[in-house]
Amino acid sequence: MKLEIKQLVKNYGSFTALDHISYTFENGIYALLGPNGAGKSTFMNILAMLLKETQGEIILDGKPLVKQKKSFLNMLGYMPQQQCLYEDFTLKDFMYYIGNLKGMKKQEIISRSQYLVKEVKLEDVFYKKLSAFSGGMKQRAMLAATLINDPKILILDEPTAGLDPMKRMEMQNMIASFAKDKIVLIATHVVSDVEFISSKFIFLKEGHIILQGDRISILECL
Ligand code: ADP
Ligand code: ADP
Repeated sequence: MKLEIKQLVKNYGSFTALDHISYTFENGIYALLGPNGAGKSTFMNILAMLLKETQGEIILDGKPLVKQKKSFLNMLGYMPQQQCLYEDFTLKDFMYYIGNLKGMKKQEIISRSQYLVKEVKLEDVFYKKLSAFSGGMKQRAMLAATLINDPKILILDEPTAGLDPMKRMEMQNMIASFAKDKIVLIATHVVSDVEFISSKFIFLKEGHIILQGDRISILECL
């Protein structure tokens, strides 16, 4: 898969949050780094088609994204930063609900859920309400739900936020284990949360890519 971003601009009124960003994603794990206000969320929201760009073009496998919106949204998994979990749902209900939203068939949802809850180590709490989950468990529940339809493009906004160091490491390893044959974009302002699993690094600041490259070239700069 190839996702090309060309001269992307996003203005909020007279304020420019993204200023002519160009970048090409192919399968792999990408770390999107930068301080608060850099434009990371804006960038991800545009990729997830939740926000419209002011200017520029996004091309998926040679075709403009706007011309394949429906199929793109079916291959997208987006995990926002704020945990928008339905606390009153059990994990099972939550995963079935998300699967349904994605238009999956019941049997497909069942088998996929069973696989995913094992992978994120939540099989023992499949029938428990999300309100009883710890922060780390909720995070893993969100990851599992995001993966329900085996998205080929996975966008994760601060997936390790609020976790202790051990759990951060665990989350990294889980994400890496799901990354095969996908474009995975992870936004964070903590380099150590992505440094072991990312193959490419993109540093955003004030709406510009100020530094980008592969592991080795970037780690040499830091
Ligand atoms: P990050 O995710 O890196 O913290 P954001 O994409 O959230 O950055 O924000 C980039 C800049 O755009 C910030 O200066 C922010 O204040 C501004 N911004 C974000 N959303 C809006 C909005 N809806 N209206 C006006 N300004 C916004
Ligand atoms: P944190 O909130 O620090 O991320 P965890 O997500 O690991 O912590 O979970 C905190 C508590 O929840 C621990 O006591 C742990 O034993 C329990 N817990 C975590 N995962 C499961 C699970 N799959 N089944 C039952 N209990 C769990």
